Amino acid sequence: MAKNIPEIIDIHGLDVRRINGKLMLSLHCVMRGSDTVQASHEVAERLEYLLKNEIKEIECVTIHIEPVSE
Ligand SMILES: [Zn+2]
Repeated sequence: MAKNIPEIIDIHGLDVRRINGKLMLSLHCVMRGSDTVQASHEVAERLEYLLKNEIKEIECVTIHIEPVSE
């Protein structure tokens, strides 16, 4: 589903916890164009929205943004 967001290069370190039937996700996201706080924030919000849309049980998503290392 992250393929829907072209800025995202890689997702790793995914951690899922189930608490009272709700899912708490945490993941690392390597992205392009993360040079501004605003841009990376916007991508993180799109990803969170997509994930919540796909999996209704998701209660919260914590996204750690990492710049591309070249
Ligand atoms: Zn990482």
